[in-house]
Amino acid sequence: MHQMTLAEIARGLADKKFSSEELTKVLLARITQLDPQLNSFISLTEELALAQAKAADARRANGESGALLGAPIAHKDLFCTQGIRTSCGSKMLDNFKAPYDATVVAKLAAAGAVTLGKTNMDEFAMGSANESSWYGAVKNPWNLEHVPGGSSGGSAAAVAARLLPAATATDTGGSIRQPAAFTNLTGLKPTYGRVSRWGMIAYASSLDQGGPLARTAEDCAILLQGMAGFDQNDSTSIDEPVPDYSAGLNTSLQGLRIGVPKEYFSAGLDPRIAELIQNSIKELQKLGAVIKEISLPNMQHAIPAYYVIAPAEASSNLSRFDGVRFGHRCENPENLIDLYKRSRGEGFGPEVQRRIMVGAYALSAGYYDAYYLKAQKIRRLVKNDFMAAFNEVDIILGPTTPNPAWKLGAKNSDPVAAYLEDVYTITANLAGLPGLSMPAGFVDGLPVGVQLLAPYFQEGRLLNVAHQYQLNTDWHTRTPTGF
Ligand code: GLN
Repeated sequence: MHQMTLAEIARGLADKKFSSEELTKVLLARITQLDPQLNSFISLTEELALAQAKAADARRANGESGALLGAPIAHKDLFCTQGIRTSCGSKMLDNFKAPYDATVVAKLAAAGAVTLGKTNMDEFAMGSANESSWYGAVKNPWNLEHVPGGSSGGSAAAVAARLLPAATATDTGGSIRQPAAFTNLTGLKPTYGRVSRWGMIAYASSLDQGGPLARTAEDCAILLQGMAGFDQNDSTSIDEPVPDYSAGLNTSLQGLRIGVPKEYFSAGLDPRIAELIQNSIKELQKLGAVIKEISLPNMQHAIPAYYVIAPAEASSNLSRFDGVRFGHRCENPENLIDLYKRSRGEGFGPEVQRRIMVGAYALSAGYYDAYYLKAQKIRRLVKNDFMAAFNEVDIILGPTTPNPAWKLGAKNSDPVAAYLEDVYTITANLAGLPGLSMPAGFVDGLPVGVQLLAPYFQEGRLLNVAHQYQLNTDWHTRTPTGF
């Protein structure tokens, strides 16, 4: 039962082969049995799950249908869930029970999805390895000595290990696509503004975007359908009609123009990954796609720009966690300054503290023009590169990451080494474009992802290309041993 995709579950529920309650019980038992190896959940919500499953079964018995009605999922633990701990992977929010549901959570609940729990993540979504969580590192089910990627590592590890079919995640600089690549999943970061950020605890507000993590493009289409849409509570949400993503999956790729940036195949890319990317290109050519070499000349500036903008916004967003308005409060403060200092010093881990310091520095008087303003100018250049490229091609294809998942602890003493691994994903966030990662093969038994980028609001095109690719390849069906 645990091997089923969302699409298969929807068919099984519609054909009354099993009930949502039965399936929910099977998956909850599987999580209890297997998750101690992975640490992919921060909280399990058994009671809520069983109540939602029973309600979904009752709705189906009353003649309702819907791809998400009775479908088990989990939320990354930065989506606010009413009355349930929403920790953001931090000691700061260990005892925070959100007073309301995030829009994404409310929309999925209304569609009948069943919430099994809240998944582990890098603290405040800062990281690429899921090692900065206060609740401990998450392990990669493909090799328990390796990281699952981050910051949505809990969602990724849980779905890859077949603990559940799909989960929500967020992507500020790659945190949906990179863990998808590291765990053999399909993950989609939507266009900025496509999915509401209301009730999603902010890391870097101009970059953050929620999206689906699942095993197939077909399932990403189903989950995105439940997440996307205008929300008047989020001033950056865009009032643009949501297409029927599942209906668009079967469009032919004949004549599809795929751009491959020459900058992608530079020295930093593992040659074995480069070869798998070339194989995926050949596969898409067989399906009728036409390949064109393109250039993204400002790509080399994206990492430094991102690692100014993201910490700057984080330092501002995280100022609310001061032990007074939100978050952990220290014992017996001597005065107000002592209260702030110790509450924040105790509540935030080292990576979060590092970024707050970098961000506050970059925004301070005298440095603002040199760092933040400069980074914003680079951001525009990166966007302009994409706009020029999309005049010539329909999608852009390349690796999701330069290397496969590294060993736990391998980059802990060198944060910049981890930042450099974000080179292929960060540009989409800077430009606000949609991006998808899908399985493309293995290196040393570890999964490799191929990334597709599309123009604004062309999530449907990404899902269509990925689905057609998945109908003709079987990388995405491989299951990690032991799960
Ligand atoms: N690795 C990037 C960072 O640490 C991206 C994280 C994310 O997308 N949330 O900022």
